[in-house]
Amino acid sequence: MGGFAGKTLFVDLSKGTFEERQLPDELYRRYLGGLGLCIRLACDAIAPTAEPLSPENAVVIGAGPLVGTDAPASSRVYAVSRLAQSRTMGWCGAGGGRFGALLKYAGYDHVVITGRAAKPVYLKITQSAISLEDAAGLWGKGAHQTTEILGRTPCGPWGVVAIGQAGENLVPYSMAFLDKASTLGRGGLGAVLGSKNLKAVIASGRKGLAVADKKAYRAVLRPLMNSIREYPHLAEWQELGLLKSLPVVEKEVYLAHKKRRIACVSCPVGDKDVMEFPGAETICSTSAANLFLPIIYGVKDPVQAARVIALLDDLGLDLYEFFGALVFGARLVDARILDLAGGPPIKVDSAESLAAWAKKIALRQGAGNLLAGGVAGLKDAFGEKAGDICPPTVKGMYPYVGPGAPLPWNLFGTMELGQALDPRGPHVAASGSPTYFARRPLSVFPKHLARMGVPEEALPRILGPDNNSLSVGRLLKYSHAWFATLGSLGVCARAQINRFYSHKLCAQIYEAATGIKTSQEDLRRRADRVWTLLALANAGETGASDGKAFQPPKGGPGPDLPTQWFGPAGFKNYLTDEPLTRDEALTMMADYHSEQGWDPVTGTPLPECLKALGLDSSGKDLE
Ligand code: SF4
Repeated sequence: MGGFAGKTLFVDLSKGTFEERQLPDELYRRYLGGLGLCIRLACDAIAPTAEPLSPENAVVIGAGPLVGTDAPASSRVYAVSRLAQSRTMGWCGAGGGRFGALLKYAGYDHVVITGRAAKPVYLKITQSAISLEDAAGLWGKGAHQTTEILGRTPCGPWGVVAIGQAGENLVPYSMAFLDKASTLGRGGLGAVLGSKNLKAVIASGRKGLAVADKKAYRAVLRPLMNSIREYPHLAEWQELGLLKSLPVVEKEVYLAHKKRRIACVSCPVGDKDVMEFPGAETICSTSAANLFLPIIYGVKDPVQAARVIALLDDLGLDLYEFFGALVFGARLVDARILDLAGGPPIKVDSAESLAAWAKKIALRQGAGNLLAGGVAGLKDAFGEKAGDICPPTVKGMYPYVGPGAPLPWNLFGTMELGQALDPRGPHVAASGSPTYFARRPLSVFPKHLARMGVPEEALPRILGPDNNSLSVGRLLKYSHAWFATLGSLGVCARAQINRFYSHKLCAQIYEAATGIKTSQEDLRRRADRVWTLLALANAGETGASDGKAFQPPKGGPGPDLPTQWFGPAGFKNYLTDEPLTRDEALTMMADYHSEQGWDPVTGTPLPECLKALGLDSSGKDLE
């Protein structure tokens, strides 16, 4: 097959052993590659009883068949594991930097890591040798510092996935970083790697990659490249990155400090940056919108705001959950419920305070150890006394968008509903669905939905027979399928990239690259299989970081939706602008499950759905 490097590497950290395997072609055919195969391999490697921080948990890292080709923005890397914060089987994705391409050029599509090393190590992957190297000198260093050191290892260039001190200290909301400029892991991948004593994974190779049908591949790529070249807003995206859609700081301030932009391999946009601040200090940003986020919380000086985020990145802390914990912590102190044990005051509008607490949390010092539990940990400790000063949580995590969350968008579209339906808890996975852009008229939806691969027969269920209503739940099913498709091929899902791809083009380019016969219908079925397998893997999970049994609320499915979402200050219906009601949200969740072919109340895949996808009730392949 073309597109794939051909081998999967299995690493047992406890035994210090490596094994290369060539997976059966049928597995690639059924799960596409990239995200899809990561989920399949994780389901095979992780027992349902495995605790997130136990040696029995596995981390599967992989890149899809387009990664390493010149298809635009085909750099995406995924990791799947039982995550520390949500305790569910979940995926983490990264723009991919150069890690994915270099992993494949070393000969591997996926790496399955199990066990726990006796002492800190890093995994070194090249086309000629695999080794576990001593990481004693790296333990205690930040993710960025570690990347800089390992990037200098001779015989590079290297792609580097590294954790910071937060991952080492098992902070549930710790992340890994990829090539310094991409996060890999809302949900606690950093802690999982830390529990394995695995400081980093580095990859380098020069093997290159062949596509199966060069002529067909070029024929599909040509119009795609042309549409990017002709896109009238390309220069604006290149200049502003995500600030274009989320202007958290004035353009002039951002541009004054922007030294250059960074792109993941083969990306024509490049929305990450190297920023330069006074004293020639340089900072890598995952996106300018993230870099200046503390401004939303009241930090006035943009340079100080960016320094806080650079510190969080280096420590390996999820910035959304960090702010949730600090907002809650400050309220608990005000209410005289939390004693900071001599620590400095918590002030979310002070860069100094944020930096001090970031370090204390990552190192679990003093009251930082309590705050390291995140919003859910504080709720567990003080919830009964805290009452209505608790910030919103979904599946134990702080939502990133909506009332009481850092991103204050208040229309309830697919991204907002997705926070309650993602197995990992709230995260971005709506993948450029039309509701991502507020107030788009329904008249443009059919064209957009066709591009995402929504079959025509589903349109009346989503938009009503006269195209004048909207089922956000049913639309979310197809947003997830589109996300799974892009992620399995290895294409970046950010809106400014996926706008150039269509479902039809994905089927064509996948077939040309891999040689696997793939119609749009085949592609839909495989993406549905991926998402349904993930649902099966999480059926019966608690979905809460406190380990307590998940209790569906009375009268409908779903987790404990935050009360802040409802009422006059809560979310609004995407079409009517009326305050969203809890019943509406629960109906959307039931619609989502029904459209997937899952039980509307429990979300468990139904036998007919499993049969159609060739899975048995335990997630084994039937075909
Ligand atoms: S849009 Fe950003 S995250 Fe996506 S491939 Fe390009 S640089 Fe990477």
